[in-house]
Amino acid sequence: NMAGRKFCVGGNWKMNGDQKSIAEIAKTLSDATLDPNTEVVIGAPAIYLMYARNLLPCSIGVAGQNAYKVAKGAFTGEISPAMLKDIGADWVILGHSERRAIFKESDELIAEKAEHALAEGLKVIACIGETLEEREAGNTNDVVARQMCAYAKKIRDWTNVVVAYEPVWAIGTGKTATPDQAQEVHAYLRKWLVENVSQAVSDSLRIQYGGSVTAANAKELAKKPDIDGFLVGGASLKPEFVDIINARQ
Ligand code: PGA
Repeated sequence: NMAGRKFCVGGNWKMNGDQKSIAEIAKTLSDATLDPNTEVVIGAPAIYLMYARNLLPCSIGVAGQNAYKVAKGAFTGEISPAMLKDIGADWVILGHSERRAIFKESDELIAEKAEHALAEGLKVIACIGETLEEREAGNTNDVVARQMCAYAKKIRDWTNVVVAYEPVWAIGTGKTATPDQAQEVHAYLRKWLVENVSQAVSDSLRIQYGGSVTAANAKELAKKPDIDGFLVGGASLKPEFVDIINARQ
C-alpha cells in the first residue's frame, strides 16, 4: 500500500494439528519461496509452540492464540506472555471471536490481556468483528468501534499491534466478506483511529482481514488500500497458505 505498511499474514491454526501434520506444514513453508515483503506469523496451539518454533523457518514468527493478563501465579490452565517469550514466540493473538463467544471473554479482559502482553514485549494481533445479527441490524461500525475503544483505553503505544478485522459471519463459513465490504470497515477503522487515537497511528497501524480467506480470494482482497494482510484459519493448515502469503505478487 502507499502508506508503506508491511503486509502481514497470520495463520491461526486454532485447536488443530498434531506433531505429524505440523511437521508437514513446516516443511511446505520451508520449501516454498515466500514474498520477503510479507511478514508471516503462525498461531500454533500452546502445546506445540516450541515444536512449531523449532521446525518453522526463522523468518516466520510464532504466536500464542491466547495468554493471560499476568506474568505467573495460581491460574490453573493459563499461560502468560512471559512464557510465550521464553519459548521463542514473539506474538499473541488476542480477542478472537471464538475466545469472545465460547469462552465469554469481555472487551475489557481482552484489552487488559493486550496491555500486559505489550508490556512484556510481545506483539499483539488484536481481533475485532461483528456477528451476522449485528451486521444485519446495521451495527457493524458501532460494534467494531466499541471493541477498538476497549483496546484504546489500555494501549498507549500501537507500534507492536496489528488489528485483525474478522466479521464473525465470515469465520469458518466459506462466506468471505467481499473486498468492498472488508475495505469499507477497514476505512471506517482508519477514520475511527484518526478521531480517537491519532493520524499517525491511523496511517501506520496494520489492519488484517480475516474470515474464509483462501488462495482464490486473497489476491482481490489484498488490492484494497486499507487491507494490510490476513488472519487465516482453515487455509493456513493447507499448502495454499503459501499462495495467501504471496497474494501481492
Ligand atoms: P477461517 O478463520 O479462515 O477458517 O475463516 C479465520 C480466523 O478465525 O482467524
